[in-house]
Amino acid sequence: MEIEIELPLDGHGFLRRQCPHREREFKWHEGPTEEAPADAPNVQEYYCPYCGQVAGDDQWFTDDQVEVIQAAVVDEVSPQIESMLGDAFTSKPGGLIQTSVSFERTAGPAPLVEPDDDMVAVASPCHGYEPIKVASQWNDPLHCLICGSPFAL
Ligand SMILES: [Zn+2]
Ligand SMILES: [Zn+2]
Repeated sequence: MEIEIELPLDGHGFLRRQCPHREREFKWHEGPTEEAPADAPNVQEYYCPYCGQVAGDDQWFTDDQVEVIQAAVVDEVSPQIESMLGDAFTSKPGGLIQTSVSFERTAGPAPLVEPDDDMVAVASPCHGYEPIKVASQWNDPLHCLICGSPFAL
C-alpha cells in the first residue's frame, strides 16, 4: 500500500526539517534550485546546519510532520481493518456471533501550515545552490547541508 502525504512548503519552496540529534528546526529547499548545476551529486545524507551531525535524508521529519503522517496512515488503514474484522464476524452463515467493530477515530492533527518569514535564508559558500533557512536568533557558525563545512554568517 502506498500512502501519499504532501508536506507543505513555504512560499519560497522550503520544507521544515528537524535535526534528529538535537531537535532544532530549520528548513531546506525542497528539490533542486535554479542555480543547481546539472552535475550536482544526488545526496543521500545531509548535515545539520546547527550541530553539523549527519543523518540520512529520511531522518529529518519534525514532530508535527510525524504526527500528520501517522494520522494519514491510520486513516488509510483503519477502514480496511474494520472491513476485514467485520467480514470475519458476519460472514459465517448461521453463526450466533453478531458484533460490530468500529474504531474511534480522533479528529487528527490540524493540517500543517508553513509560514514564509519565520526563518532567515542563508547559503553556504561551498554549496550555495542548496540554500537553507535557519532560526533568526542563531549567531554561531552554521554547517553546510551538503558537506558539513562550517561557515559564519
Ligand atoms: Zn543538529
Ligand atoms: Zn558545502
